[in-house]
Amino acid sequence: MTELRNDRNGLGRFNVTPAPVVRAPARNPDGSVICPECGSDISSSRGTQRLRKPDFADRTLQQQLEEPLLLYGWLCTRHQYDIVIPAACRGRDASNLPTGWIGVRLVFTDEIVRWAPTPRKELREQGVDR
Ligand SMILES: [Zn+2]
Repeated sequence: MTELRNDRNGLGRFNVTPAPVVRAPARNPDGSVICPECGSDISSSRGTQRLRKPDFADRTLQQQLEEPLLLYGWLCTRHQYDIVIPAACRGRDASNLPTGWIGVRLVFTDEIVRWAPTPRKELREQGVDR
């Protein structure tokens, strides 16, 4: 049953860890966060996630930032690849989130560019002043 997923991008058979998938959160009517691919309740994974191979919409960031990118959000580990689900983020200031988070523009797996929250401190330490 998981064979198809395992062979995603044709990399499975070469033993290469598939790139993580980045998706916007889905929610149950009660507000709990679910994985948009398998529907599992992932509310309890809320916290800082690490995203390998981030696809920045901003080419400069792509060159400046080292992997992994830290993101505030959720994670589903029930797949052959990690599904990282960044919390909704309002603009560069991440004005809907607590102080200390800042928005970066990421290309999600559905190829839509969305703001995703990353710790401002982390960007500073890597010499990126936003
Ligand atoms: Zn899932």
